[in-house]
Amino acid sequence: FVNDDGDIAVRPHGAATLPGQEIDLAKVVARAAGPSAGGGLGLPLPLLVRFPDVLRHRVESLNAAFDYAVRSTGYGGRYQGVYPVKCNQDRYVVEDIVEFGAPFGFGLEAGSKPELLLTMSCLVARGSPDALLVCNGYKDLEYVSLALIARTMGLNTVIVLEQEEELDIVVEASRRLDIRPVVGMRAKLRTKHAGHFGATSGEKGKFGLNAAQILSVVSKLKALGMLDCLQLLHFHIGSQIPTTALLADGVGEAAQIYCELARMGAAMRVIDVGGGLGIDYDGTHSAQTDMSVAYSLEEYAAAVVAAVGRVCDRKGVQHPVICSESGRALVSHHSVLVFEAFSASAPAANIDSATAYLLDELTDDCRNDYRNLMAAAVRGDFETCALYADQLKRRCAEQFKEGVLGLEHLAAVDGLCEIVARGMGVAERPRTYNINLSVFTSLPDMWAIEQQFPIIPIQRLQERPAIDGILSDLTCDSDGKVDQFIGGRHSLPLHELPSHGTRGYYLGMFLGGAYQEALGGLHNLFGGPSVVRVSQSDGPHCFAVTRAAPGPSCADVLRAMQHEPEVMFEVLKQRITDDGATAAALARAFGAMPYLSFGGSEVSLESSGMSSDSEGS
Ligand code: PLP
Repeated sequence: FVNDDGDIAVRPHGAATLPGQEIDLAKVVARAAGPSAGGGLGLPLPLLVRFPDVLRHRVESLNAAFDYAVRSTGYGGRYQGVYPVKCNQDRYVVEDIVEFGAPFGFGLEAGSKPELLLTMSCLVARGSPDALLVCNGYKDLEYVSLALIARTMGLNTVIVLEQEEELDIVVEASRRLDIRPVVGMRAKLRTKHAGHFGATSGEKGKFGLNAAQILSVVSKLKALGMLDCLQLLHFHIGSQIPTTALLADGVGEAAQIYCELARMGAAMRVIDVGGGLGIDYDGTHSAQTDMSVAYSLEEYAAAVVAAVGRVCDRKGVQHPVICSESGRALVSHHSVLVFEAFSASAPAANIDSATAYLLDELTDDCRNDYRNLMAAAVRGDFETCALYADQLKRRCAEQFKEGVLGLEHLAAVDGLCEIVARGMGVAERPRTYNINLSVFTSLPDMWAIEQQFPIIPIQRLQERPAIDGILSDLTCDSDGKVDQFIGGRHSLPLHELPSHGTRGYYLGMFLGGAYQEALGGLHNLFGGPSVVRVSQSDGPHCFAVTRAAPGPSCADVLRAMQHEPEVMFEVLKQRITDDGATAAALARAFGAMPYLSFGGSEVSLESSGMSSDSEGS
C-alpha cells in the first residue's frame, strides 16, 4: 500500500489496520540503516524487516477461518493446527507463532532432530498444554527416543511413520525407555497435485505408506497390543495446492483411509491434512501457474472441513480433530527483504556531431550497410532496419577482431543503431540495476526453481517509474540476476537513481518469509541480511524496532567454511610493517571477532536511543 509520501506502508492487521497505524517501510529502513549520529542503528543492507503483528494476523486468520467452517457446518470436531518449522526456523518467528497460537492450542511440526529440539523447548516454554507436536521426516533411534522423552515432559508428541521400517524403531525405543508412543501414519495418496510442488504426491511420491504398508502396520500394532497407540493420519500432497477441487479430492481420499483405520480398531483422533495452503504471489487468484491459487483462506478451510465431515458421516465415524501444517501461508507475509540499487548501467550509447565523422571512416561494405539502414529508417521500415543494424554490427565486430576498426568505431556504430532503434519507437534494452545482495543467499528459490516474488521500489511511488530495469546481484555469477518478474514481465519499472550523496534507492521483496532464509547458501561467501523486528507502537511513527542484528560478518562466513579468521588475521598481521592503522583496518575487514572485540552479534537498541520495548533487551 502506498501512503501520501509515496512510500510503501505496511498494514500489520490487514484491512482492520486504521490509517494512523500504518508503518512506513522507508522510515523503518532509515531508522535501521541510518547513521547512529542521526538516531539510526547503522545496520548494513540488505535488511530483513520482520513484522510480528503480521504473523499474529496470519495465525489468527487461519484459526478464525477453520473456526468459522467448523461452526457454520456443525462439524463435530475442532481445528488444531501446527506450524512446520522448516518454513522458517528463526527463533523469534517460532516463538511468536507458538505464543500467538496458544489460545487456539496451536502446535509445531518438526522434520529433523534439530527441529525437534527447538520445537520441544519452545513448546515447553510457551506452548498451550494440548498443542500437538507432530514429528515427521526420516527417523533414527535417537530422533524417536527424543520424541518419546518429550511425552514425559507433558508434550503432546505424535510420531508420524513415513516408512514402514520406522515402526520397528518406535517399538524398540518405546520398550527401552518404557514410554508408550502416540503414533501417526503418513499415507501415500493416489490424488496427485500436478504443479511443481506436487512432485512428492501420487502413488510414486517419495514419502508415506501405500495401502499394503498401512495394513501391515495395523496388523503389527495389533499383534503387539499397541493398536490404541495409532491415533493420527497424515498426508501432504505438496505446497501451493492450486484449487479446492484438488484439495477436497485429496482430503476425501485421506478421510476414507482415516475411517478404515477407525473401523480396524485404531484409536483414531486426528486427521492431519499437511501443508499446501497456497498464497497469491502474482495477484491473479488463479490456478494457471504455481504463483497463485484459486481460493481464499476461508474457502480452503471450508473445503477441508466439508470433505472430512462428508466422508465421516457416510461411514458413521466420529468427526476427528482437523490439523493442518500450513507453513507458506503463515510466514510468507511477515517479512520484507529490503536492498539497495546502488548503481545502474549507463543509458544506451549515443553518437553526436563530435563522433559522427567516425562513420565515414568505416570500410565500404560497412558504409553500404549504414546507408541501407538509414534509408530503411526514413521509410519507417523497421524490419529491414533491424536487419541492416544487425548486419552492420556483426561486420564491424569482425573487422574489429581483424584490427581494421578501432574501439571508437565500434562505439559509434552501437550509438547509431541505438538512435535508430529509439527513433523507430523500439524499446531500449532494459538497464541493469546493481543491487547489494546475493540472489543465492537471499532469494534462493528465485534462482533454483524460478519462483517469483513481488519486487517494488519502497519509495517514490507517486512518481512514474520511467526506466525498465533488471537487477544484477553482487556475486561473480551470471545466474546472480533477477530478470523475470511477476506477470511474465522481463523487466521492472524503476526510477532514475538519485544522484550521489542524496537518499538511497531501496527495493523491497515481499512474500519471501517462507523457505528462503534456511535454503539460502553462501555462494561467493555473501552472508545473510541484517534483521530487524518491527512492532506497531503508539509512537510518532507507529513503530518500534524491538530487535536488531547485523548479518554475518566476513569472519562468520569464513568460519562456516572451516577457515579460522583469528589465525588468518595473525598470519596477515606478520606482514604489516606499521602496527597501528593498517592492522585495525585489516581487523575491521574481518568484522566481529570475539577477541578483537569489534562488536557483538546483536545491536543494543537502548544505547542507540531506539525503542525501550521490553523485547529489545
Ligand atoms: N508438511 C510437510 C510434510 C511438508 O513437506 C511441507 C512442505 O512442503 C509442509 C507441511 C508445509 O507446506 P506449505 O508451506 O505448503 O504449507
